[in-house]
Amino acid sequence: MPLSIRRDDLLPGRNFIGRWCEAQLGRRFDVADPATDTVFASVPDSGEDDARAALEAAHAAFTAWRAVPARQRAQILKRWNDLIVAHQEDLGRLISREQGKPLAEGRGEVAYAASYVEWFAEEATRANGDVIPAPVVGRRMFALKEPVGVVAAITPWNFPAAMIARKIAPALAAGCTVVCKPAEDTPLTSLALVKLAEEAGVPPGVLNIVTASRERAAEVVDVWLDDPRVRKISFTGSTPVGKHLARRSADTLKKLSLELGGNAPFIVFDDADIDAAVEGLMAAKFRNGGQTCVSPNRVYVQAGVHDTFADKLAERVAALKVGPASDAGSQIGPMINARAVDKIERHVRDAVDRGARILVGGQRLPAVGRNYFAPTVLIGADTTMACACEETFGPVVPVTRFETEAEVVAAANATPYGLAAYFYSRDVKRIWRVAEALEAGLVGINEGALAAEAAPFGGVKESGYGREGSIHGLDEYMHLKYLCQGQL
Ligand code: NAP
Repeated sequence: MPLSIRRDDLLPGRNFIGRWCEAQLGRRFDVADPATDTVFASVPDSGEDDARAALEAAHAAFTAWRAVPARQRAQILKRWNDLIVAHQEDLGRLISREQGKPLAEGRGEVAYAASYVEWFAEEATRANGDVIPAPVVGRRMFALKEPVGVVAAITPWNFPAAMIARKIAPALAAGCTVVCKPAEDTPLTSLALVKLAEEAGVPPGVLNIVTASRERAAEVVDVWLDDPRVRKISFTGSTPVGKHLARRSADTLKKLSLELGGNAPFIVFDDADIDAAVEGLMAAKFRNGGQTCVSPNRVYVQAGVHDTFADKLAERVAALKVGPASDAGSQIGPMINARAVDKIERHVRDAVDRGARILVGGQRLPAVGRNYFAPTVLIGADTTMACACEETFGPVVPVTRFETEAEVVAAANATPYGLAAYFYSRDVKRIWRVAEALEAGLVGINEGALAAEAAPFGGVKESGYGREGSIHGLDEYMHLKYLCQGQL
């Protein structure tokens, strides 16, 4: 099936290192549509030489870029935002084709990505420092914010536009230069965004991108980890890879932002608005087929409303339409690849073997395609099951019955992760108690859709550190320099 985008040049199919170029060894790898496993594009399979060239370019461009007045950097970012918005349809189609999400979600992701670019265009001009009251006569004290230097951005496949925008926009706004490696499964959207950044006026060398296959991801990133000229790693992805990056960058003590895996609890108390809770769970869980770091992974429902909630949920989940992004009615697309479906199937089997019962779904959908899994509701889930301990990253809702608030808060926190948590209640005292007790970076209270460019996004515990978006997001790419003038 043709991609049907208006601008074919949004598929440059090459690295961008000051100019569009092939990998130095000329290698390429294929990009497939997860809906059909059909190859429809290819991009450079870069190695260490390409990573080094990108770093040289970013390092060479840093001195001039940091000297560009913040207002001018902001204007370039605003033009980038305008171009992203103007190409929403093409970019949405590209996301849906390489990542698999329904087209409405692909378009929505473009708008979400653009919102970060616009936000940081505005933030660029607000990197104010401090004038500090001096403790002695004849002295003046100041704190200035400065860009950290070259930033390496490493991104996952589940939000190929948003994850790039959330890193590159604040880095450029702060006056940093960037080297970037997108995920193997979704390199095309990121190349298209870089193409638009070039058109917006980002100078050569300031933003560099190299694509690589999974086999060469570490080869590329290790060059950046080991080089002292890279001053910051901004990573979104799994916790094991995040820990590896933290260890390996320790020798050069880089600044780190790690947006890692989650295992979000979703709690429904007896006093909740049950219909609102079902809707909130549907929105939070089934966006991107459950392949979202803030997706509820464990659902706890208090005994008094458990059966009503489970019935209503099962009815809504059974009605979800599964199919390729190209089908306008699809609400759940394919999973990203066969490995993802294997993991989901393993979690469902394990839960059933340990006593859970399938209310809806529970199996692959080979008639639709190899990478599809039916939206699933399990009841009778417990803490011993793989689906409670690991991120399933798919359209599976394991429901656990609970009795008391203390019991459920302890269960919700009994995980090394701490990205998102959700709960539904109408008791104002409980709302504050539970919101404060949950160990998570983001808490949805009677709300399933949390993310916004104006809000700080990030985790605690093994979900990482650092925040993207909000008035705090720019600081991740800056350091404070203290100036003290005496003899006045
Ligand atoms: P991943 O396997 O950790 O990959 C993320 C990125 O790291 C990809 O570009 C990947 O390249 C690269 N990579 C993999 N192994 C590497 C290595 N040894 N050295 C250097 N780079 C390496 O994660 P994923 O499966 O793509 O993404 C899903 C995970 O991301 C989930 O755990 C999800 O919760 C998390 N996530 C978190 C957030 C958040 O904001 N907290 C947002 C979205 C996703 P390849 O693609 O080539 O393997």
